Amino acid sequence: MHDIMFAGRIVDLLKDKIGKGAEQKHIVVNIALGPFTHVTAESLRSAFRILIEKESLENVVLNIQTNDVVIKCKKCGASEKIIKPVAVCPECGWGDFEIENAEEFVIQSIEIKEA
Ligand SMILES: [Zn+2]
Repeated sequence: MHDIMFAGRIVDLLKDKIGKGAEQKHIVVNIALGPFTHVTAESLRSAFRILIEKESLENVVLNIQTNDVVIKCKKCGASEKIIKPVAVCPECGWGDFEIENAEEFVIQSIEIKEA
């Protein structure tokens, strides 16, 4: 149930950051999901909807994007976007590489606008 956990983190952060009067504002939460997580934008949205019903945060909009994961091979220097986990460099087969953007879930920013 990662979707509930992620949604809970958004709600906690919102309560932390915006406090009182939040229901009169337009709030957009920018989120990046990793491509390897089982959480989809849709399951995260529905988990979030369930949680915010109790919190008077119905004015919050989630802007969810999927991260591109990139590996950088330490041998051939290839920089490749991958859509599923790999064990070796797709270019040269080397097993030693760096992975960028592999986080499952990142809250990138919260935009708060006066209504
Ligand atoms: Zn390589």
